[in-house]
Amino acid sequence: MSLKGKTAVVTGSNSGIGLGVARALAGAGASVVLNSFTDRDEDHQLASDLGAEFGVDVRYIKADMSSGDECRALIEKAGGCDILVNNAGIQHVAPIDEFPVAKWDAIIAINLSSAFHTTAAALPMMRKNGWGRVVNVASAHGLTASPYKSAYIAAKHGVVGLTKTTALEMAGLGITANAICPGYVLTPLVEAQIPDQMKTHKMDRDTVVREVMLARQPSKQFATVEQIGGTAVFLCSEAAAQITGTTISVDGGWTAL
Ligand code: NAD
Repeated sequence: MSLKGKTAVVTGSNSGIGLGVARALAGAGASVVLNSFTDRDEDHQLASDLGAEFGVDVRYIKADMSSGDECRALIEKAGGCDILVNNAGIQHVAPIDEFPVAKWDAIIAINLSSAFHTTAAALPMMRKNGWGRVVNVASAHGLTASPYKSAYIAAKHGVVGLTKTTALEMAGLGITANAICPGYVLTPLVEAQIPDQMKTHKMDRDTVVREVMLARQPSKQFATVEQIGGTAVFLCSEAAAQITGTTISVDGGWTAL
């Protein structure tokens, strides 16, 4: 599978799943634009290292996904966008009646509205080329709920809805839109929570992972960023040209329960 000649923009991609997806797309030959809201030397270094590793063009463009204008500017600055991966996301956990309004607004902006703005900016470019792929990183929480994550779950269900509408508006034009719905993925952020959970629950690493963190994931195994990346590359392939407006769960069976 070669994505040579295609440019991919991956939002929120200086760590975790976004970086894993960016790596997989670079490995498949795509030029890649990495993004986050910071503008550190290490962000740009990450891009040049990734480019050197796979022999493709990789750039880092700072843009804050909580701002609609910056979302649209990211796509303009990329200069082209054949593959758009909406991945940037944040989380906050609190009961609805105590949920801080500023957190609600930030989660809806970064996890949901950013995908609307980047998609709106990218679709004209894709339509002109008669080819495009929109891959939205939603979540098992785009299909099912848990308590205390109201904003995240509302945003991720919204992303799934936006994905379906994008697919319908682009149907027959060579442009597909799909959402990947990961369960628990072992990112540095998740890895960092394990020692605290071990202390809180007085359990060893394996038990805390199996009984606490992966309580709802029947496989009792984390998904990996490589598996999410591989799924994104598949959705960009010719084999997936008629897969549109749907969700692909990578969740060890969570949503089958
Ligand atoms: P992460 O914190 O490692 O990655 C989030 C990325 O988004 C980072 O690159 C961060 O810099 C970026 N980001 C945050 N705010 C931003 C902003 N305002 N503007 C631009 N970029 C911003 O977390 P992750 O686990 O890799 O999560 C990536 C996506 O996957 C999120 O949408 C998350 O909801 C989703 N997801 C994660 C899991 C999991 O278990 N890790 C499961 C399901 C879905």
